[in-house]
Amino acid sequence: MTMLDKLAKGSENIFVPPAPRRPFVDGCGRTINYLRMSVTDRCDLRCRYCMPQRPNFLPKRDILSLEELYRLACIFVAHGIEKIRITGGEPLVRKNLLQLLRQLGDLLPKREGTESSPEDLPESLPGFLQNLTLTTNGTHLTEFAEDLFACGIRRVNVSLDSLDAATFAHLTRGGSLSVVSEGIDAALKAKLAVKINCVALRGVNVSPEEVDRMLAWCGEKGCDLTYIEVMPMGDIGNEKRLNQFYPLTELRSSIAERWHLAPSSYSSGGPARYWHCAETDRRIGFISPLTENFCDGCTRVRVTCTGMLYPCLGQESGSDLRAPLRDHLDDDEPCAKIVAARVAKKTRGHAFVIDRNTGMSLARTMNTTGG
Ligand code: SAM
Ligand code: SF4
Repeated sequence: MTMLDKLAKGSENIFVPPAPRRPFVDGCGRTINYLRMSVTDRCDLRCRYCMPQRPNFLPKRDILSLEELYRLACIFVAHGIEKIRITGGEPLVRKNLLQLLRQLGDLLPKREGTESSPEDLPESLPGFLQNLTLTTNGTHLTEFAEDLFACGIRRVNVSLDSLDAATFAHLTRGGSLSVVSEGIDAALKAKLAVKINCVALRGVNVSPEEVDRMLAWCGEKGCDLTYIEVMPMGDIGNEKRLNQFYPLTELRSSIAERWHLAPSSYSSGGPARYWHCAETDRRIGFISPLTENFCDGCTRVRVTCTGMLYPCLGQESGSDLRAPLRDHLDDDEPCAKIVAARVAKKTRGHAFVIDRNTGMSLARTMNTTGG
């Protein structure tokens, strides 16, 4: 019997979780509780650090259907996954994504008569998802913000690398800053907490003026901000990774010369190390896989839009879950066994190094894998 059959046995509106299964534990004894799931490799932008101008998108038949994505999510939740982040590509360009989000939202425990976020629950409830979230470029937030909230999502990460309209258009190869900015306003209006993700790019968005503008803007909007070091993933055409890379250790020191930063113990379950900024009273995070390794407490795994499971963003080795899903329509065990075996091989840390000649460390791209 599949997890889906078991879910169907619950009444129409009340999710009855299946009996919890043995959690997935990695080779270092870490229990895996966080799944990042890419739902598409397609995107309406072409960020220069993420993909080439003319990417070869995957044939549709290779991409997991919404039903397959849901079935996979149920398998992970039954095995102790508490947090799912939906990503891509741009997740909001996936047709009928709301169908999947509504189903995943039904895996969250409901609290009658309260608006409190599922992630505020005091302790985890076995077999339930605790936190459903999404990473987006923000171009479709105006349209979807209220629906996302209705699905049980309470936080979104929005990528925004510059507040200068011309720089933003250049970086994204044609994106509109005002569309994204309106999307962020719509999300805040719909009561979604918004964290801004900003990839630090040498010579583009790391000058004191640009950084101060971003910090102040996030403070005014009430958004946390996370800077990310550019990672050497995939072919990005004519762009040169080494030219893009800017170490966040340097950025943090520079910010600390002008803003009061105090270390924060906050963790979002992701790889960022957080600081509290006194002037904005918001958090500022740094994801620095190359200059400061973030791997020790990592309890995340990723599934690509084709169903490849990668226990580590920075390692090539993964396992195909699409074949066991499609070959065993009535039985989840073969798939769960493959996950358990691959997770057991999850190593302590990643292997990112920017190759001086190719600018690459890993051949797979961020938009397929899911950032
Ligand atoms: N399209 C959505 C977005 O841009 O937020 C979700 C997918 S995107 C691949 C997820 C995150 O990965 C974004 O914050 C993006 O800036 C980041 N990203 C993409 N390529 C990257 C790279 N080579 N190095 C570091 N971050 C990258
Ligand atoms: Fe699209 Fe996100 Fe990649 Fe930019 S970073 S090209 S928005 S998937």
